[in-house]
Amino acid sequence: MNDHKKTVYLASINHAIPPYWQNMANDLGSAVNFAFPCIEIAIDLNLFYSEERGQYHSTLILSKILNRLPKNGEKIIGVTNVDIFVPILTFLFGEAQLGGKGAIVSTCRLHNEFYGLPQDDRLLYARTIKEVLHELGHLLDLVHCRDYECVMHSSTYVEDIDLKKPQFCPVCQSILTTD
Ligand SMILES: [Zn+2]
Ligand SMILES: [Zn+2]
Repeated sequence: MNDHKKTVYLASINHAIPPYWQNMANDLGSAVNFAFPCIEIAIDLNLFYSEERGQYHSTLILSKILNRLPKNGEKIIGVTNVDIFVPILTFLFGEAQLGGKGAIVSTCRLHNEFYGLPQDDRLLYARTIKEVLHELGHLLDLVHCRDYECVMHSSTYVEDIDLKKPQFCPVCQSILTTD
């Protein structure tokens, strides 16, 4: 059956996914039945930098990520470590096209150091997995869930992410179609 798994590419933008996260594909695959090959992509993020905000325009980066979707892939999720925004929001953990092909996740505000706390690589990894699954859920048509432990719960603060489990609740899981 593995041959028939759909492929969601994880795109490490300018080396945002460190080598020690090599288990990411397996961890994501245990939450949802897709294959998650990781590719490295280079994007000149300076083009999308807003001097005024000191952040990078999420939707514009997302359009570049979409151009890098390999032909055999269903979807692509780009991971960046820069701080991203859309004009109506102060910041974003990620952005996805609902039911679409592409998403972006920023690890910038998933780092403890961002909040003046000691570096915690395991926590950073756990938060990133949850945010990748969250954006993947949107790509698979899921909207936000009221269950605060569900990965589809909306997160305003990083503490909200820490309350979530790295999986879809039974209701969201029943809506997901992975075949
Ligand atoms: Zn969301
Ligand atoms: Zn849910």
